[in-house]
Amino acid sequence: GGTGTLPRRSARRLTVLSGPSGVGKSTVVAELRRTHPGVWLSVSVTTRKPRPGETHGVEYYFVDDAEFDRLVAAGELLEWAEFAGNRYGTPRSAVIEHLEAGVPTLLEIDLQGARQVRESMPDALLVFLAPPSWEELERRLRGRGTEPEEVIARRLEAARVELAAEAEFDITLVNTSVREVCERLVALLGA
Ligand code: 5GP
Repeated sequence: GGTGTLPRRSARRLTVLSGPSGVGKSTVVAELRRTHPGVWLSVSVTTRKPRPGETHGVEYYFVDDAEFDRLVAAGELLEWAEFAGNRYGTPRSAVIEHLEAGVPTLLEIDLQGARQVRESMPDALLVFLAPPSWEELERRLRGRGTEPEEVIARRLEAARVELAAEAEFDITLVNTSVREVCERLVALLGA
């Protein structure tokens, strides 16, 4: 070497965190955002309304249906899916730019989205976040126990199907401790 020019950091492999609903993906991502600012977290667009404490451009870009339609039609989303009556998608260009700049890049998306990334970016590392046990997931999905048993039963059946998706993933992390999962993710990201 010694020519004085630094080589461009080579493009990174995309990392995707997914898993059944209720497993705690968003808690892991919130902790990562707080403790590891060197990891770039993709900001999704969604048609869902902001929850208290959420900020446009931080957790999500909150858009209306027309804008979401426009993004889909323009091919600006790397993947998108409908979840619980709302649409969610990953803006493509920001992901590509960060990967090409060599920045550790993470998507937190649902299983349908993870499958689409598997197709369009076969090189991506797909990480499955698993519950510590079925009982723990059931406890979370039952929530405060105020919902009709029929609604709960549907949710539990969906969770059973979602857990089977683990076989499609490269790696499983068991969500025993949020900090532990973060450390493992950071190691996988090479951050
Ligand atoms: P929430 O509304 O609770 O923030 O998210 C609901 C679900 O949408 C979660 O499973 C989350 O992982 C998923 N999600 C968030 N952003 C995206 C995205 O850009 N694409 C897909 N496919 N799913 C997403």
